[in-house]
Amino acid sequence: MAVEQGVTVLGFSEHCPHPDGRWQAVRMQMDELPEYLAEIAAARRDFPQLRILSGLECEWVPEFEETQREYFLKEMGCDFLVGAAHSYLHDGVFESAYGRQLTAADLRAYADYTVQSMRTGLYAFYAHPDLFAMSIWEWDRAADECSRTILQAAEEYRVPLEINAYGLRKPEKEYSDGPRRMYPVRQFWELAAEYQVSVVVSSDAHQPEDVWGNTGECTQIAQNLGLRVVNDQYETWLYGAGSRGGVK
Ligand SMILES: [Zn+2]
Repeated sequence: MAVEQGVTVLGFSEHCPHPDGRWQAVRMQMDELPEYLAEIAAARRDFPQLRILSGLECEWVPEFEETQREYFLKEMGCDFLVGAAHSYLHDGVFESAYGRQLTAADLRAYADYTVQSMRTGLYAFYAHPDLFAMSIWEWDRAADECSRTILQAAEEYRVPLEINAYGLRKPEKEYSDGPRRMYPVRQFWELAAEYQVSVVVSSDAHQPEDVWGNTGECTQIAQNLGLRVVNDQYETWLYGAGSRGGVK
């Protein structure tokens, strides 16, 4: 499908496994990682016309930071890691960003967690940084502050932010100002235009036919707001994020 749709560089980014098997419902186990990478290596041989990159979408779990750096990137040779906060640390405990309304305190924790993730230097880019918006009824001051905290860190640590096209393929939901997509959300990206941040457009394909799906619409969002899309310059930011050694 990637070849048919004119893709030239294709990155795989399955959810990463964890040594303690947490959040197993949506990810592989540690002992499945070699097979995943072997399949990607086989795809490289089968499709020499594509440049294929191996990656993992990761939550930052402090006790597994070294697993991600030393095992995923160095020992197993993953090309890149993507940071993401489907869950986030709140007072030292992981909470899910799904399935309930996030309070102002939740949003502060979500933003702080995202900042700490970026600070590790592990992640080549940050997936759907506006994901929190799916779980807030109203865009209020807390949402504004959460966004600005994330955007400030993305600028400071030079971590590109993803406009995620998977959100565009999901059904709209009802919010205080009417139906809208859960993400990407206009308010977040309008604020992003006030910061020196880079943007990565990604299909987040969960099915082959979506390999490049809705990316045109994401690019349009970026262009309308004057955001800098850096997909083309991936060689300068994608590789070696883990070997930057963190910004601490
Ligand atoms: Zn994700």
